[in-house]
Amino acid sequence: MPFHPPSWVPQLPFDPPDSCTVADFMFDENYGRYPLGYSKPPFTCGISGKEYSTLEVKERVDFLSRGLAKELGWSPNVGTEWDKVIGVFSVNTLDTLPLAWATHRLGGIQTPANAAYSAAELEFQLKNSSAKCLFTCLPLLKTALQAASGAGISKDRIYILEVPKEATGGQGTPAGFKTVDDFIKEGAGLPRLEALNWEDGDGARKAAFLCYSSGTSGLPKGVMISHRNVIANTLQMATYDKPDRDKLREPGSQVDYIETTLGLLPFSHIYGLVVICHAGIYVGDGICVLPKFEMKQFLDAVERFKVSMLYLVPPIIIAMTKNKAVLDKYDLSHVRAIFTGAAPLGKETAEDLQRIFPKWAIRQAYGLTETCTVVCSTSPHDVWYGSSGSLLPGIECKIVTTEGVEVEGYDQPGELCVKSPSVVLGYLNNDKANKETFVDGFMHTGDEAVIRKSPKGHEHVFIVDRIKELIKVKGHQVAPAELEAHLLTHPAVNDCAVIPVPDDKAGEIPKAFVVKSPNVSLEESDRMLARQIVKHVEKHKARYKWITGGVEFIDVIPKSPSGKILRRFLRDKEVAARKKK
Ligand code: AMP
Repeated sequence: MPFHPPSWVPQLPFDPPDSCTVADFMFDENYGRYPLGYSKPPFTCGISGKEYSTLEVKERVDFLSRGLAKELGWSPNVGTEWDKVIGVFSVNTLDTLPLAWATHRLGGIQTPANAAYSAAELEFQLKNSSAKCLFTCLPLLKTALQAASGAGISKDRIYILEVPKEATGGQGTPAGFKTVDDFIKEGAGLPRLEALNWEDGDGARKAAFLCYSSGTSGLPKGVMISHRNVIANTLQMATYDKPDRDKLREPGSQVDYIETTLGLLPFSHIYGLVVICHAGIYVGDGICVLPKFEMKQFLDAVERFKVSMLYLVPPIIIAMTKNKAVLDKYDLSHVRAIFTGAAPLGKETAEDLQRIFPKWAIRQAYGLTETCTVVCSTSPHDVWYGSSGSLLPGIECKIVTTEGVEVEGYDQPGELCVKSPSVVLGYLNNDKANKETFVDGFMHTGDEAVIRKSPKGHEHVFIVDRIKELIKVKGHQVAPAELEAHLLTHPAVNDCAVIPVPDDKAGEIPKAFVVKSPNVSLEESDRMLARQIVKHVEKHKARYKWITGGVEFIDVIPKSPSGKILRRFLRDKEVAARKKK
């Protein structure tokens, strides 16, 4: 039985356009909110207070694209989008999105990398995406240089995104590196670029972003996200939220209700990139941009800039509920709602937060990189703790049991499969994963879900388990296959399997089961060996991938006759062991 959005959800006002770039959609008078309505400055630095108005952003995008075209020898209508891939490895900055839109103006693609990546991880993404240059920020320059050199990107193709002085210890950009501001100054004196002469449907065919996700199994893969995918989810979110925003409008006012939102979550992840930066700006919201999570800096910014909508992930909410004394020191009275996603928010945590802030609407959404973000979300008028809410407009889903049977009613678990104009083009150069994941127009999420009716009579999606291999640490993706491949390069590891184990702060953390190599000396204690193995990961992988769930030595990794690791068996074993403790 297919499920659709409940009747209170408005239909999309028009089909997501398929022949324009994301930037055109965001700022063009035909589609965009600007200049039809009032809007806040899209980007304000949550540390320095520096801000760019909508007009300034438009101008920066224009001048930056001219400067880039000259520097890189690119022209909007020469070459394909795959010849013009720009890597970004940075904390959030005021120019991260303008850089993406300038890249699109040139017919290119932005591939954003997680700012926590090690040099080896970044090098993989740069090579895999065939990035031609890299934008980074001062605090990450050393790692960026190392990765770029490994990926064959020369030093003169590394450029700098500006972060506030507080985040660089007062350091300025070293000589020899061009900054975004340098490009913009130069671009202001250059002639206009020719228009992109796209054919009908190019916006639905061409990738705008290449984000990385491991999907249901295996290593991280490049997810090709089209211009239309981003436009579709932007429109879906804006439409879904409209009835609630209309209720907040001043009586008699023609001006839509707009928010000051929190831009703390990484713009390199689909949640920050699409929900905060596209859906938010499209409706006129202003984003208070912060480079990383630090409790005091975050609360300072929320108070100082009167932030009304907090985009968060469960680990930050948990940290907040455990630090009530700190929260009490701030005036957070402007906050109206929080929005959480990327990992499950426990009912108890939602209740804890609600006790501290009884007036806040606590909204949860569910989405994936492969659905170009939000599939469903609770709304302020239909909050239900533990639920991921109702389907967004234009989305259809079905729930399929392990036997491949589509469920017919409520409360019956199975894999959630999603059909939406935001479902991405597919994985780059990976036919096998594409065939497994995108079937007959539905994206197979690898998440187990049930549909329930809310007390108000609306259908809600509950994510009840994860079938796929993914581990989610503080909302970041950790692919077990990636860690297993790395562990196998350690001489003491003969075989291994990595599974998620629950963690109070991070949600989940990775734990490794290891079969020792026969050549490990008998004198070597298990504790020493486990430490060496953990260190081997710490040396090469981003911090959130570290094996903080521990190493357990076992005689054999359970596998199916075809050689597939039986992870469920290990997860059950772990649950049983924890119950005994
Ligand atoms: P990503 O592509 O990094 O956004 O990861 C997507 C995955 O995060 C989903 O397939 C889920 O496993 C998980 N996820 C995202 N939102 C939620 C949520 N609200 N509840 C449970 N899991 C979630």
